[in-house]
Amino acid sequence: MCGIVAVTGSSMASEMVYKGLLILQHRGQDSAGISSHDYKSAKFFSHKDLGQVSQVFAGPHLSKLQGEVAIGHTRYSTIGEIKECDLQPMMISYPYTIFMAHNGNLSNFPELKSELTAAGHFFTSDNDLEVILHLLTQNLSRATGSNFFEKLSVAIKEVIKKAEGGYSVVATIGGEGLMAFRDRHGIRPLVYGVKTNPDKTLSHCFTSETSVLNFLGYDLLGEVGPGELILVKPNGEILKKSLFESNYLPCMFEWIYFAGAESSFSGQSVYETRLKLGVQLAHRVKQDSFHKLIDVIVPVPDTSRASAISMSEELNIPYREALIKNRYVQRSFIQNGQDRRKMTVNLKFSVIREQVEGKNILLVDDSIVRGTTSRKIVMLLKEHGAREVYLASTCPPIVSPCYYGIDFPTGEELIAHGRTLSEIEEALGVEKIFYNEVRDLEEALSKKEFCRSCLDGKYPYPQRKEALA
Ligand code: SF4
Repeated sequence: MCGIVAVTGSSMASEMVYKGLLILQHRGQDSAGISSHDYKSAKFFSHKDLGQVSQVFAGPHLSKLQGEVAIGHTRYSTIGEIKECDLQPMMISYPYTIFMAHNGNLSNFPELKSELTAAGHFFTSDNDLEVILHLLTQNLSRATGSNFFEKLSVAIKEVIKKAEGGYSVVATIGGEGLMAFRDRHGIRPLVYGVKTNPDKTLSHCFTSETSVLNFLGYDLLGEVGPGELILVKPNGEILKKSLFESNYLPCMFEWIYFAGAESSFSGQSVYETRLKLGVQLAHRVKQDSFHKLIDVIVPVPDTSRASAISMSEELNIPYREALIKNRYVQRSFIQNGQDRRKMTVNLKFSVIREQVEGKNILLVDDSIVRGTTSRKIVMLLKEHGAREVYLASTCPPIVSPCYYGIDFPTGEELIAHGRTLSEIEEALGVEKIFYNEVRDLEEALSKKEFCRSCLDGKYPYPQRKEALA
């Protein structure tokens, strides 16, 4: 999972991208990078490094990134330990100089990389963005058309056809403009907006979340559609083409966990959705009158706060912030490797003893992926005198891997994979566990079509059958 920002038509493009990346820091803290392009001098500028956005751009780098178009990336690695060669934006110089950044994963990455290698392409990283770049090179160099956008459309259509998975891509193309496109099901998010510069020209911004548009003062124009290509030319003209007629399957995990609470997708506010999921979860707790056993509702900070508040209102049970999070420790879910994750969980939470001692706690979390955090928190609460701990998850049980950019790659790592409810309760050390169901999610999102492959094991791309066995 990563965050991307692209700005064009602004004399402060790099600075705006930098600010946007700060807003998206929750989407990944492993590395950051910005590349810019000055149309007049035809020069490109780039800087990227390991670390958080403010660390990577602590020095004079930002002021050197000139030009009216810039793209940026903040990275969370889904492929193990991060290497410098994997940092984004990445560049290719044939048949055009292109700097590109993406958010997502190709589910057929190994096959495509082998195919391209056999065709003479040389790779310097294990990043699937490099595969997208090489596919583009291959197809753009042989595409025909009466103008650049026609050729680009032909090439990107081939790229999307071959590259299976969930991805959103932004790229600057030397002298031709800023391009954005999305996989054919629109699994990973990509929104865009416009604002008027003081000299009345227009500036456009493409990014992973609407929070960036709001912060930078852009009016939302919409989402880049599934399988859609958009090019903003150097003169600000926008060209669009829908390259595939596919069903739109945005990732439900953006609303549940990943996106900032102030963002919205498909007109659905992330915060409102979390409130609704809390109400539905309250109904699940009420079903067998379990709410009568609960003294206090405690959220696992931060993502589940909204749901815990609405549960508290619905059940008429006090809400207490009994878990205090150390804000200087990274989100445990988005860390690489189980050892790092365990260490982070240990450092991350402390408990307000007076709020839990002798009480029956209903702990609310947005999701239970590996169970690492839940198990540790339940132990912490009991060590601090909690009598009984009940656990409620706004996300239904996650039983299958995600191949589209979220880091829960193998079934064995998932606590709900192959376990009954009582086995999960025992593994986590809780008296009882409550989950929302998929229909609750459909209701909260006011839609039936979205990616939920990790909940039902049904994937939109059939070629992963061997990996599902
Ligand atoms: S499999 Fe789950 S986490 Fe992955 S994209 Fe689909 S809904 Fe999101």
